[in-house]
Amino acid sequence: MIRIEQLQKSYGTAQALAGIDLRIDPGELFAFLGPNGAGKTTTIRILTGLTRIGGGRVFIGGHDIVAEPRAAKRQCGLVPQHINLDSELSVRENLDIHGRLFDMPPDKRQTRSAELLHYVEMADRAGQPVKQLSGGLKRRLMIARALMHQPKILFLDEPTVGLDPAIRRRIWALIKRVQQDGATIFLTTHYIEEAEFLASRVAFLDRGRIVALDRPRTLMDGLGTWAIDRVDGEAMATRYFATREEATAYSAAQDCGFTLRRVNLEDAFLHLTGKKVS
Ligand code: ATP
Repeated sequence: MIRIEQLQKSYGTAQALAGIDLRIDPGELFAFLGPNGAGKTTTIRILTGLTRIGGGRVFIGGHDIVAEPRAAKRQCGLVPQHINLDSELSVRENLDIHGRLFDMPPDKRQTRSAELLHYVEMADRAGQPVKQLSGGLKRRLMIARALMHQPKILFLDEPTVGLDPAIRRRIWALIKRVQQDGATIFLTTHYIEEAEFLASRVAFLDRGRIVALDRPRTLMDGLGTWAIDRVDGEAMATRYFATREEATAYSAAQDCGFTLRRVNLEDAFLHLTGKKVS
């Protein structure tokens, strides 16, 4: 569904993407994980036609984004990082405008927006001005808007940034539902648990390069199952173990503070890049 070959991008002399290769299958929920400035937004903007490609090739649903930009763009629904709804307009009007941009006829716009408001559980908000909505509702509306023209691929750039944990989980449930209903999903995040919970495969991005790409479980299993964080004065060090018994035996021999926990995706990222994701 998405094929990326040696994708590059520079801003002036600063290299944002240093040659990315990637294939994403239809129906996959793929996550790009990386710290601020890693190149996540730049990748999404290029894939959705908002930023010009610097080098390499990208195919969206088989369409080359340079040779066939309109056909490629039609396959894509984008939920950008920052809320860009029209706050003076109503919920329904925001969906309608998006439908117009994709040349949808009025009757189709009406049925599709009603269907989507039901889908994101906002049917009772249709006439409400967007400025009155909470952050979580705005995010849900942005997802509905991106789905208006029935794209095959949904791009979500940090879809739950700044939301509280309960609202975040509701958005996760919605994203999963969109995938189960047949869409391919490309998500960027710097929330480890978001990638761990949602994604079938994850790429770790660091300074414009993919440093690892696999299923979350496989990336974590490479380290072990259990981790011990040792706190010795100011310093903290982590060790990984295959079994809980091995970890417990190690901790029994320590004369400083420690915490026993399960290995997570952040450990895998730290191990590969030497830095934290957020
Ligand atoms: P964040 O999590 O902060 O959104 P990111 O992983 O999405 O980070 P990008 O926004 O893609 O990272 O930025 C990658 C690099 O490119 C950064 O060094 C950033 O400063 C730079 N960059 C991004 N957009 C521009 C621009 N329009 N002009 C100049 N430099 C840019």
